[in-house]
Amino acid sequence: MKTAETLLACCVVGLACFIGGQTVGARGSSVLIESSGTIATRPARVGPLDSTAAPTAKRLSTAHGEERLVTSNAPAERPRRDVDDARRRIAMGMDGTYIHELLTARDSAIARWPDRLSRPLRVHVRESEELESWNPDFTPAVRDAFDTWVQSGIPVRFTFVRDSATADIHVRFVSSFANGISGKTVWSRDGLHWLLSSDIQLAVTHPNGGSITPPQMRAIALHEVGHLLGLDHTSDPDNIMSARIRVRELSEADRATVRLVYSVPAGSLK
Ligand SMILES: [Zn+2]
Repeated sequence: MKTAETLLACCVVGLACFIGGQTVGARGSSVLIESSGTIATRPARVGPLDSTAAPTAKRLSTAHGEERLVTSNAPAERPRRDVDDARRRIAMGMDGTYIHELLTARDSAIARWPDRLSRPLRVHVRESEELESWNPDFTPAVRDAFDTWVQSGIPVRFTFVRDSATADIHVRFVSSFANGISGKTVWSRDGLHWLLSSDIQLAVTHPNGGSITPPQMRAIALHEVGHLLGLDHTSDPDNIMSARIRVRELSEADRATVRLVYSVPAGSLK
């Protein structure tokens, strides 16, 4: 199982602890940027992120790079928040999850999408036949990653659309990243931590060369869709949300954690 060994041996991730710098964009939006240690201020655009990936061998490295904060009022459809009730639900459901790591990384705030059962989130996956290592099986692998998270029992559905202009979520493939990672997710949220949109980039080659295989692409996509749904990294390598991706399927803890996130409204638990 050469490819499995490659995953086990080589998965390193760009660490991303959530810290916030901010700047005002053209339309009054602010940007909070994840990087690896200092508060940063950057323009309101999707940009590169810091990575601590080691320069060795092939690895599947992912990081979510940037969080865009869009100041807006919460639409009326969003549930009224009872912080005490949310704290109680989180405490009661904590067993078997890594929610404590998420809350530590995010300053006790939960970011998630509003319930989207009847109105699925629209996903546009841009195929990239121009890339040398492009494999047509990447697209179904990525779609399957979205569907696999849905099966964990969250109140979110996805639909795949042809028109990128109408999409909530954009997935695109790149040849590789300069900083040694293999995937990157950026999402926008409003001031109440409700997610608004997201962009995922997936590399088709390993940082040091060699093509990503469709099963590896699916594993990276599972990790990035986890970020898209509001999850952060966990220290347990048996979970897909480990900073070093060593598994190819969601663990029970991955499923339990995302279900717990979606059992309470978005926002700070402080
Ligand atoms: Zn990650």
